Amino acid sequence: MPDSVPIEILLIEDDSQIRRFLRASLLADQYKLIEAFTAAEGMIQATARLPDLILLDLGLPDGDGLDVIRQVRQSSRVPIIVLSARDNDKDKIAALDLGADDYVAKPFSMGELSARIRAAVRRTAQLAAENNSSEYCFGTVIVDLAKRIVKKGGEEVHLTPHEFKLLSMLVRHPGRVLTQRELLKEVWGTNHSDQAHYLRVYMAQIRRKLETDPAQPKFFITEPGVGYRLDDGDST
Ligand code: CA
Repeated sequence: MPDSVPIEILLIEDDSQIRRFLRASLLADQYKLIEAFTAAEGMIQATARLPDLILLDLGLPDGDGLDVIRQVRQSSRVPIIVLSARDNDKDKIAALDLGADDYVAKPFSMGELSARIRAAVRRTAQLAAENNSSEYCFGTVIVDLAKRIVKKGGEEVHLTPHEFKLLSMLVRHPGRVLTQRELLKEVWGTNHSDQAHYLRVYMAQIRRKLETDPAQPKFFITEPGVGYRLDDGDST
């Protein structure tokens, strides 16, 4: 996948041997990897980095992986695949009831886990494609949400994962004013709803990459004190 935005996986696992094994395989499969060793660190990374998928061990040194699922699900539908040595139905059902998407019991083969990851990523892309038509155009910009590719004037534009999430939110609601709170909550999670400066920084980057004249934006309009709006030309 040349310039498409890489899929980010958050691995929450305290066993260094398993982490090492997964790291090598996932990087070879072109995934971007974020690692956390404890439940607390995992929850911080889940909120701060907004991964596209979470691989979660249930037995963590500072708490139960089930608590991580409960907390993440308060604000996010990110796919969660549970990795656990506990091969009992009670934990499996508890994890799935709390909103985990899938479950792989240790020891697992990398082939099996890879297939589960691909299936989860595919489901997410399909959902995005069903809920929204997956392509959006304004000016010479084309945003393909399912393929995670952005082009301007036919050329691929590289966006960071946060820039892509912010752009996705705007293109899904063309013409509508999205409040700072709504955008922050969607892109960074609930704990960041008072960090309006994040939005100014990221919006400036998006304008620099996608506007013809970033100083006089035609598409990414600031609604002072309120939020932002994508003017795609159809709404005026
Ligand atoms: Ca463990």
